[in-house]
Amino acid sequence: MSLTVSIIGRPNVGKSTLFNRITQSKRAIVEDFAGVTRDRLYEKVTYQDKSFRLIDTGGITLENADFNSDIKMQAEIAIDESDVILFVVDGRSAITLEDEQVANILRKSGKDVIIVCNKVDNNHIADNIYEYYALGFETIIPVSAEHGSGVYDVLDYIYPKVPDEPEEEDSTINFCLIGRPNVGKSSLFNAIVGDERSIVSDIEGTTRDAIDTEFTYDGVEYKMIDTAGIRKRGKVYEKVEKYSVLRALKAIDSSDVVLWVVDAERGIVEQDKRVLGHALEDRKPVIVLINKWDTVKKETNTQKLYEQQMKAKMPFIADSHFIFCSAVTKRGVKNIYPAINDIYAKYTREFTTSQVNNVLNDALMSKVPPSYKGKPIRIYYATQIATKPPRFLFFVNNKEILHFSYKRYLENYFKHAFGLEGIKLKFQFKNRDEKDEM
Ligand code: GDP
Ligand code: GDP
Repeated sequence: MSLTVSIIGRPNVGKSTLFNRITQSKRAIVEDFAGVTRDRLYEKVTYQDKSFRLIDTGGITLENADFNSDIKMQAEIAIDESDVILFVVDGRSAITLEDEQVANILRKSGKDVIIVCNKVDNNHIADNIYEYYALGFETIIPVSAEHGSGVYDVLDYIYPKVPDEPEEEDSTINFCLIGRPNVGKSSLFNAIVGDERSIVSDIEGTTRDAIDTEFTYDGVEYKMIDTAGIRKRGKVYEKVEKYSVLRALKAIDSSDVVLWVVDAERGIVEQDKRVLGHALEDRKPVIVLINKWDTVKKETNTQKLYEQQMKAKMPFIADSHFIFCSAVTKRGVKNIYPAINDIYAKYTREFTTSQVNNVLNDALMSKVPPSYKGKPIRIYYATQIATKPPRFLFFVNNKEILHFSYKRYLENYFKHAFGLEGIKLKFQFKNRDEKDEM
């Protein structure tokens, strides 16, 4: 479980500029899923050999709210959701009443809070930062989010606080139920886990409100990662859409398998795509649960047509497993465990180098890589370098000229040859003469 860091501060101090500055290197390599627009308020950041989550609370606002209610909500979210809080202030101005208001809420939280004094674009301004000690926090780091100076100091502050990943492989299957409000996530949770489970524990997360449920079923250990809306806690901001999106994104990050719940009658909307886009960028396997199937009038082939229509609308779930179920009548619910187990087995599959190269040779024989401006492409060999999901490294003569469509072809070929339908594989290409990691 990695660390979560929140950015908070009054409007215009440069929160989103800082967020972009810290996350931008990652953005460049993130794939663009057609039709998936993302709010820039949550990203996973990798710095050196560690990763943490970064939240820009400034993007989460109430409708028609004044500054006071917005900032109070943002501070509560920062306190509830994170381990380290970056309290951003404007180094070019004096402390404002609004800064003091934020400081008051944060001080009481007992969280690890540092002041990031932004807009310190030159040494001349740097003298002003001492004033901010009056807000009562020990650490102040001057930065210029716009120019980038000081940003590594912030990362160096966070880095030692990120826990090391446990070395031992944990065989617990982590999953989450995501979906819009009222699609039936809590009901399904009860139906899935309800009768036969033996709950091991409700684990208090590092953040105050996260409660994950660990249980065994048929000899397999599972952990359901909590998302807002399943354990209803009754806080005002739980109804805010962006907050529930944020919680879903966080849950996806901690999961091996994502159960995406859709209300059969209502179908999908834009918000679904956004959340799902994140799961797919993370290459997490998604099982689609079409819930409330009891409410749909059925004729011949209704399921098949429904599935086809959804896949046509969202091509990136084209090989996802669909389950039609009802949390009320319990029909179909028994199919969920086998589907989770099956996809998890694929997600964690390991192949020997000879298995990988046999498939690679077959793929190369069936379709020769297209040459580029007369230059031939050669793919020498490949090897699996990781699981969750299976990741393969290919050694080639010139990765720059290997066409995207051929990569896509290889991915599909591998997927079918290895029976990994429903899994988004990871492919990396490296020039054979290349010394360093790409
Ligand atoms: P937010 O409302 O806190 O998210 O603030 P923004 O990130 O939108 O920034 C508000 C304004 O401050 C924008 O016009 C930015 O260009 C500007 N800004 C942000 N960071 C810096 C900085 O390091 N130096 C200077 N001079 N301006 C900055
Ligand atoms: P959540 O907000 O996604 O957790 O949704 P809930 O589990 O609270 O369910 C929302 C409403 O849908 C409740 O009134 C449930 O009784 C109802 N509901 C949930 N699952 C089903 C189902 O499979 N069939 C029918 N007919 N109603 C359902």
